[in-house]
Amino acid sequence: MIGVIWDDRFLNISFSHPMIRDIAKARVRKFRELLDGIKDEILFIKPEPAKEEDLLIVHSKEYLRKLKEASKSPYIGFLDEGDTVHYPGMFDDVLLILGGSLTAIKFSSFLDFIYIPLGGFHHALPCRAMGFCPINDIAIAAKILSKTRRVAILDVDAHHGNGIQRILYKDEILKINIFGYDGHFFPGDGKMDEIGEGKGKGLNLNVQLPRGSGDDAFAEALRVTQVLEDFHPDYLLVNAGVDGHKDDSLHFLNLSANSFNYLGQRVRRLQRELNFKVISYGGGGYGESSALCMFEYILGYLGKKDNPEEETRGNAERVKEEVDEILKTFYSVFVKNHS
Ligand SMILES: [Zn+2]
Repeated sequence: MIGVIWDDRFLNISFSHPMIRDIAKARVRKFRELLDGIKDEILFIKPEPAKEEDLLIVHSKEYLRKLKEASKSPYIGFLDEGDTVHYPGMFDDVLLILGGSLTAIKFSSFLDFIYIPLGGFHHALPCRAMGFCPINDIAIAAKILSKTRRVAILDVDAHHGNGIQRILYKDEILKINIFGYDGHFFPGDGKMDEIGEGKGKGLNLNVQLPRGSGDDAFAEALRVTQVLEDFHPDYLLVNAGVDGHKDDSLHFLNLSANSFNYLGQRVRRLQRELNFKVISYGGGGYGESSALCMFEYILGYLGKKDNPEEETRGNAERVKEEVDEILKTFYSVFVKNHS
């Protein structure tokens, strides 16, 4: 039995740019319909909205005020330079979204895997919204859990999780990022030499997938998760973004739905070996195949498969070399200092 955080209000929530808000909402609706096919294996959990002070775990008081003010405006507008929207009453939606993470933490005491379809706002920074993300739900969950538990984050998405990296850079939390990178693609950071500082030194791993990378490159990139064996987390937070799919409106990566199935399988296998709890998020996805990819991720975790797409190829050799390099750095910096 797996848990899925669900509230019908999710069907009408999107902080994305007006041009893609309908796509973003449609994917959540379609994903929910697909879940009906495996509903015997799912416990649907209604999220309890977060409290204002929960936002302050990561965000500034000034930014909280700004969010509340924007929510009172009768107009739709932008919280940032033109990506993340605000709309009347959006603050309640923000609290509901964050409530998904907090409710998942509560229920994780008796469920090993909990999925939050509308979550994974990994770009938001302490004082500002960014890239369709008004708040950083994953960073807040990681901060709460890491007070008493060992926490690792696996952030897989077409975009680098710059907000998570920035907020948790000095924390003793393992952060693995697998994302599309060509030096220009949004948000533009995530270099390999950004390895963390202080207690977080050696714990920030950036695996860059070049433009056009296929399923074979993605599988190579996931090899980096072997570092979990040395870190021994109690919790793995997985941002399972699906905007790397070949039909996504971004067209940056060339992944098929097989990659997301494989991601689910990999998470399950690591969990069996290392015995940690998983809280997972829907992340980005802006195409007609997004819901299918989210569903494949869940199926992969459950040891099933239901997709006829052909596997794609591209850049595997380059990513293999990159991962070897990252593993070498991890073992020389982190493992050496902690053994
Ligand atoms: Zn993304």
